[in-house]
Amino acid sequence: MSSGNLHRNVDALVIGAGAAGLFFAARAGERGLSTCVIDHAAKPAEKVRISGGGRCNFTNIHTSPENFISENPHFAKSALARFTPWDFIDRLDRRGITWHEKTLGQLFCDGRSAAIIDMLLDDVRAAGGELRLNTSVQTVEKTGGVFRVETTSGAIDCRRLIVASGGLSIPKMGATGLAYDIARQFGHSVITPRPALVPFTFEGRAKEDFASISGVACPVSARNERAGFDEAMLFTHRGLSGPAILQISSYWREGEDVRVDMLAGRDAVAELTAFKAAHPMKALTTALETLLPARLVSLLAARGELPEVARMADISHAAIAALVTHLSDWPVRPSGTEGWRTAEVTAGGIDTGELSSKTMESRLVPGLYFIGECVDVTGWLGGYNFQWAWASAHAAANG
Ligand SMILES: Cc1cc2nc3c(=O)[nH]c(=O)nc-3n(C[C@H](O)[C@H](O)[C@H](O)COP(=O)(O)OP(=O)(O)OC[C@H]3O[C@@H](n4cnc5c(N)ncnc54)[C@H](O)[C@@H]3O)c2cc1C
Repeated sequence: MSSGNLHRNVDALVIGAGAAGLFFAARAGERGLSTCVIDHAAKPAEKVRISGGGRCNFTNIHTSPENFISENPHFAKSALARFTPWDFIDRLDRRGITWHEKTLGQLFCDGRSAAIIDMLLDDVRAAGGELRLNTSVQTVEKTGGVFRVETTSGAIDCRRLIVASGGLSIPKMGATGLAYDIARQFGHSVITPRPALVPFTFEGRAKEDFASISGVACPVSARNERAGFDEAMLFTHRGLSGPAILQISSYWREGEDVRVDMLAGRDAVAELTAFKAAHPMKALTTALETLLPARLVSLLAARGELPEVARMADISHAAIAALVTHLSDWPVRPSGTEGWRTAEVTAGGIDTGELSSKTMESRLVPGLYFIGECVDVTGWLGGYNFQWAWASAHAAANG
């Protein structure tokens, strides 16, 4: 791999040395194409490195098209079917990278995620690919069948231009809207990008209340009319986070409520009724502490969300049922999200209506491809976004 201010000519130029771009270059190189990958960052695949707490949740064995959000829910089917989690696992196994399932089909490396980056870089190198870091794109033009990309390290001509520069999540890590700019330049539509897999923020009383129990977590079901997720919720200094909240944030629109079932999966009426029979002189808050974290119960009491009864003996069956209904359908209205600063992924992006689902090639401009997160295909939390990066890159490399 090299650098230098040369005028180069390659079969395929890849913009973005992230998961999708490197995987494309390795696969296309194996197929005999000459490739060059450019990235404005000093290091490749930084999101792979930090993902999954440094162990990279590289796929999910339950991957299916239902785990992705897109204006066209059918678009991802073809690529996902032709490159499955097991195809990626096979590559790790051959490389000797060991892994484990953590929960819900989420696969993580046993060691550091750097092992995956090393594998990707070695594969690109072995296939004769070139990697140019610290290289920014200045202009992109197409004349005849050839793209010319002017970069800060010279001009590069190619017949295939693969845009793999990701979405807008985490600008500090180098995220830019370059993919959308190139798409628009060539006449593509972009579905307005929005932060996804992102914590909710609150204002006023709710913010203060949630901050007062920052660090408290409990299993919930978080839902709206579009989706629902049974995972943990975490109270934070700014509002709500945790997997259930991150997941539902991808389906949330400003001004909407989210409903939280804090008693998900429990027969709370039966449990509280049994508690009342066994301990009639104990407080309602004590009974609720068998179902919810004690600090959350105190907060609910302070917010006036619990009936004012001294002892369980004084609470009627109807009041128990009403309380359980309230806690099972607890409405929260976020004032916003933490935004691009912490969003794990970008929802929206390049409109799939103008791309081939088989090859990711533009239907408007032959030779122009979009892969990975810049496309309007957004995975759930849990390894689905990397699976999309691998699968869309594979589709483009084999197209
Ligand atoms: C903190 C965090 C943790 C995550 N954990 C997981 C996880 O465990 N599992 C999972 O499936 N997903 C996870 N994700 C999401 C996942 O990282 C992304 O969906 C995935 O990396 C997208 O791959 P990509 O190659 O399309 O884009 P990226 O990985 O974002 O790569 C894009 C590349 O393009 C470069 N680039 C951007 N703009 C320009 C420009 N103007 N010029 C040149 N180069 C440019 C960037 O420097 C970057 O190297 C996580 C994301 C974050 C932020």
